[in-house]
Formats: sequence, C-alpha cells, structure tokens
Amino acid sequence: MPEDRKEAAHARILLVEDEERIADFVSRGLTESGYKVDWAGTAALALELAHDTEHDLVILDLLLPDMDGLALLEKLRNRQSSPPVLILSARSALDDRIRGLDLGADDYLIKPFAFAELLARCRALLRRGSALPERLRAGDLTLDCIRRRVSRAGRVIELAPKEFSILEYLMRNQGRPLTRTMIVEHVWDTEYDGLTNIVDVYIRHLRAKIDDGAEVKLIQTVRGTGYMLDASGQGGGEEPVP
Ligand code: CA
Repeated sequence: MPEDRKEAAHARILLVEDEERIADFVSRGLTESGYKVDWAGTAALALELAHDTEHDLVILDLLLPDMDGLALLEKLRNRQSSPPVLILSARSALDDRIRGLDLGADDYLIKPFAFAELLARCRALLRRGSALPERLRAGDLTLDCIRRRVSRAGRVIELAPKEFSILEYLMRNQGRPLTRTMIVEHVWDTEYDGLTNIVDVYIRHLRAKIDDGAEVKLIQTVRGTGYMLDASGQGGGEEPVP
C-alpha cells in the first residue's frame, strides 16, 4: 500500500553549494541520516535538477559561481511547486538575511555551522512541509499530488491516470504554453512523434471534465504552439463580457 504521507527519512533534498568540501560534508551527513541528496555546484545545475525532480527541501548557499544565490531563490520560488528553502551562507549581513526571508526562504543558517544544527533545521522544515500534502491550485481547481485527487469548486473530478498526469504537468507550468511534444515527452516518457495527436484527444477529455459548464475556462489553446493552463480568465477569447 503506498504511503500517503512522506516520511522525513525518505525526503529528497537539493543541496546547492559550490564549495566541494562543505557539499561533501553536508551531503554525506544527510545521506547517513537517510535522506536522498542531489548536489548542484552551480545555479544552472540546480535549476536543471529542480526542473527534473521534485524535492522536499532545498539547501541553498548564497555565494555561487554563476548566479547570486538570492536570484536563484527567486527563480526557484517562481515555480508552481516550490519546496521549503534553507539558506546557508557565510554572509552574516542582516539585510541579506532579511532579503532572503522576503524572497521566501524558510530558514537561514550562518557558516560555519554544526551538522547537528543543520540536521535539526532540515527536520523541522520537512515536518512542516509534510504536514500539508502537496497541493496545486489554479483558480478554483485543486490537484492533490499525493492523494491524486482533483476537484473544481469543491466538486470531485475523476480522471484517468494519463489525464491526471497531463493536468498536473499543466498546473505545474501555469501560464506557460506547453507544446504537444513537451506534453508527450513528459507524460509518456517518450519522443515518439506519432503520439502528439493523442494529446489533443486527452485535452478534449480533460476539458469536458474540468471546463464544461465553468465560467472560466482553465485549459487554453495556444495557437501554433499547444496548450496552457491559465486561471486568469483572460485567455482563449471566451471570457464573458461583464
Ligand atoms: Ca559558496
């Protein structure tokens, strides 16, 4: 039976730290404590890893070789589903700390630190995160990633597994047009061109279940591109005139 709650010990942590000595020390300690750790030594790699994998926590160093850590934090925060972030930095300046927290960091640890302290902070953030199952929202549409339940304006919507995956992908990329090829590659895990037409079929099913009868149509067709989920009610030319 699948667990409906993520145990902290199974959590996956993204560690963004360019100093190999520290990354190695932190990564080894976390792994020994039962966590899965993905290590990125650059902001570019961190963004790539964050795009490919869902993480339960990000540990973020502010001084990175290719991008300011706070700029990276902003990019991570702009994603639809963003895990808690623990900032790790030698900078002790108060305004960096305030800026970090303003940008959505959840906690802040100054280097040098004791590993036990880092571990305690990670545990606290993960507990906070796992108390709430991951939920995506677009207007009155809610998708619960863990229980795999979808509802719109409180009405539960039954979806087939592929429909669910497409909707989840659209919701994680709200406001961003996705091509049929992107959807196929993401949902079917293949590059087979012949499958792109099937996307239209699934989108039709999804629309019937989600948008039929609703005032705001969430699934928009982006001409010449593909599809986009947009809860602003301004797309698709179907917005009712007030
Ligand atoms: Ca650094």
